[in-house]
Amino acid sequence: MEKNFPELLQEANRCVACGLCLPHCPTYRKTLSEADSPRGRIALIKGVLEGRLAPSERFIGHLDLCLACRACENACPSHVSYGSLLDGIRPLVEAARAGSAWRRAAKRLLLRTVASPRGLSLMGRGLRGYQRWGGQSLARRSGLLRGLGLARAEAALPDLPPQRRWKEVYPAHGGQRGEVALFLGCVARIADGETLAAAIFVLTRLGYRVRVPKAQTCCGALHRRGGEPGAADELARRNLDAFAGLAVDAIVSTASGCGAPLGEYGATLGVEASGFAAKVEDVSRFLCRAQGWEEAKIQPLAATIAVHDPCSLRNVLHGEGAVYTLLGRIPRAHVVALPGNDQCCGGAGLYPLSQPEMAERLRDDKMEALRRCGAAFLATSNVGCAMWLKQGLQAAGLGIEVLHPVTFLARRMGFAGKC
Ligand code: SF4
Ligand code: SF4
Repeated sequence: MEKNFPELLQEANRCVACGLCLPHCPTYRKTLSEADSPRGRIALIKGVLEGRLAPSERFIGHLDLCLACRACENACPSHVSYGSLLDGIRPLVEAARAGSAWRRAAKRLLLRTVASPRGLSLMGRGLRGYQRWGGQSLARRSGLLRGLGLARAEAALPDLPPQRRWKEVYPAHGGQRGEVALFLGCVARIADGETLAAAIFVLTRLGYRVRVPKAQTCCGALHRRGGEPGAADELARRNLDAFAGLAVDAIVSTASGCGAPLGEYGATLGVEASGFAAKVEDVSRFLCRAQGWEEAKIQPLAATIAVHDPCSLRNVLHGEGAVYTLLGRIPRAHVVALPGNDQCCGGAGLYPLSQPEMAERLRDDKMEALRRCGAAFLATSNVGCAMWLKQGLQAAGLGIEVLHPVTFLARRMGFAGKC
């Protein structure tokens, strides 16, 4: 349930301004400005809610620079729910934001498109066609993208694979041990079908029947972050309906950026969603407690795999440990935590587009850590982080392959792209 302004103020008042969160905040670490710290942002939000401050451009700028990584929540002894404060103030921020009509229309179009499975599929096919049939090089050469202010967004697009069609049921191989439902996500469905197929491959080989409800849609995170809580709640309700009635052991998500909001449906929609939310589980965590491993054949991999902990997995789902356990199943693999894992990579949602400078500074830290740790591979459980880090590795000329942990495992079990 979205907090109303008196509730938001109550939440903000729980901050005792101790400052213990400050050293954990990536933007504060970079700017050393109180206004770019959690404590400073909470004070600003309080000022606006109490009517002492106007929601000025400066106010909006300090909130926009926040990554919503929620590292501050983990550090807070008063358990201030910073994430709900930030989400709760966003509609007010969006209403006060000055911006061109073109930008508003583009944002509306993007949010509408990701809200519809059909729209997503068309977008995926359209963008792949654009990349493959000469549109991309023409648009880049013509300067059109720069003129429309889309050059950065377009450059951030990964090479899109062919769009996959998902069956509604994937039977277990051998005897059936259990049944799970798979959440596809929106960006993952378009840009990282391989990870979804790898998850189905591993789950079915371990003896789990996998259900993929057709009517599922985007988790709503982009809409909530974009200051549209009504649209986010509507998407959440559509997902509740899509997964209703499935007697599954878990609703498995491969992208922690989707898993985190799905797991919070109970907090946003109330008791009607608590059963759904309780079943949501990150795929690595589910696989750690899954049965059937004794029969699985996993080929060794004599290489160092660095693990990047996405903020959504570490600070919200608290499930990062499962990734190390899962990758530890690969014989001879040397699995190490990427140094600096307590800091966001900068690839948070649309952050690289809205705050490119800070996003790049944070990614540079990751590139430096990767250079030093000598890894051949990088594992990350969130599609947004994977795309952002891949782009950074290419720009830095580092030949490190980025994969989802479940894709690593699936490949060592014989996965060649098809589930
Ligand atoms: S969410 Fe992250 S960037 Fe924002 S205030 Fe908290 S720690 Fe800082
Ligand atoms: S740690 Fe919690 S109580 Fe202390 S300043 Fe940060 S948000 Fe406020």
